[in-house]
Amino acid sequence: MLFSELNLIAPILKALETEGYTQPTPIQEQSIPSILQKRDLLGCAQTGTGKTAAFAIPMLQLLHQPHLNTKGPKPIKALILTPTRELAIQIEESFKAYGRNLSLRHLVIFGGVGQKAQTDALQRGVDILVATPGRLLDLMNQGFVNLRDIEIFVLDEADRMLDMGFIHDVKKVIAKLPAKRQTLFFSATMPTEIQKLSSTILTNPVKVEV
Ligand code: AMP
Repeated sequence: MLFSELNLIAPILKALETEGYTQPTPIQEQSIPSILQKRDLLGCAQTGTGKTAAFAIPMLQLLHQPHLNTKGPKPIKALILTPTRELAIQIEESFKAYGRNLSLRHLVIFGGVGQKAQTDALQRGVDILVATPGRLLDLMNQGFVNLRDIEIFVLDEADRMLDMGFIHDVKKVIAKLPAKRQTLFFSATMPTEIQKLSSTILTNPVKVEV
């Protein structure tokens, strides 16, 4: 199968060509059509499988609204929660690469660094926010981030969130999301606690395992 058979819009296909991608990986082939149909998704996949592009590409397409003015403050439309700074940076770079021909604004926030650059960027307006849980909660508590207009929520590496002791923070973030949203849930393994969490936050999900 080719990316050109997945009903992707021209600016995204062009970006994938620039990246040198021609064929979707198995997780991309299985996930992209369902995400484009606004289905919830439960993905069992490790890093290295092309998981990031599997969610980033269809999200960019769903969020792209060519007729709307993209300037000025407007609510955050998509949130990606991931456990580490390294993963957060990689995910934001993926959105940048695949979204290079679109005008969506993305930002990555994580702890261990000053928050000024992050809060300045938030105040200028962000469409897609990639975050680690602790810093996100901090900025939410200070009023810099509001999640009430989130349309798409991604929980990345859920099992590692549990291992790293972040699951409580993750649940606090989830509690602030609107009930009506699309949720994409990724985990390499499915321990009981992760299974339970997935069943409480997903609605009739498509299941993808690679
Ligand atoms: P990920 O599992 O999302 O971290 O992706 C692993 C690596 O594969 C990244 O370096 C991507 O740039 C690359 N990649 C993802 N999808 C494709 C694809 N369809 N064709 C070629 N490379 C890809």
